[in-house]
Amino acid sequence: MAIKISKKIKSYSVQSADDKAREAAQAAAPVVETPAARPSAEVIQMHEQIERPDVLIGSTYKIKSPLFEHALYVTINDIVLNKGTAHESRRPFEIFINSKNMDHFQWVVAITRIMSAVFRKGGDVTFLVEELKAVFDPRGGYFKAGGVYMPSIVAEIGAVIEAHLKMIGMIVDDELSPEQQALIAEKRAAYEAILKKNPELTPNPTAPATTFTPSEPSSGFPPGATMCHKCNTQALVVMDGCQTCLNCGYSKCG
Ligand SMILES: [Zn+2]
Repeated sequence: MAIKISKKIKSYSVQSADDKAREAAQAAAPVVETPAARPSAEVIQMHEQIERPDVLIGSTYKIKSPLFEHALYVTINDIVLNKGTAHESRRPFEIFINSKNMDHFQWVVAITRIMSAVFRKGGDVTFLVEELKAVFDPRGGYFKAGGVYMPSIVAEIGAVIEAHLKMIGMIVDDELSPEQQALIAEKRAAYEAILKKNPELTPNPTAPATTFTPSEPSSGFPPGATMCHKCNTQALVVMDGCQTCLNCGYSKCG
């Protein structure tokens, strides 16, 4: 860059290699801040030593299962970490399950105390969802509204925790892309057209109930749809020799 010198030159010195090095070192050196002036950069993660604040925010979910005479009420309380910062996050802190039904009281207390301890340990607690959802009741499960099969009441508690962790952003929902949704809608329309043309294919609604007949018929999927093992929803139909799930898009041919 050219510099126009408008005044007389009074003195000058030649910049040496040493001078250049000193300047570069000064520029690279970090600016020393006083501790008081620096905002806290420490991001608090969930760990055992975090003390319970007097007030926690929580959500209570109601579970009504045909396996239980009374409803279960699942309360999950969350702690807010790094409040007011860019790292603000909500983490589950404790869980309680209440019911009029005291038959399973000791197991319910045990499972909630262990889960609360896992929550307070911190880290990735989402494995609890998978563990609980994989529990099968040997007496058989039941269907929820929407055609979702619950293999046990423990699995439904897992589903409630999953819904809660999705709500607070710990589990990110892998939703179907618009293309996948369009493809499923197309297949569904094609299947319903086949049923309309061939009414004899529609299963007899007065047929004797099997153990897996939905107790809540508002599934929204075509009659005769069977269980999809991938999404546990009664939405699997057979089209052109292929099993197709009208809920999650799973497909198997042959
Ligand atoms: Zn499916």
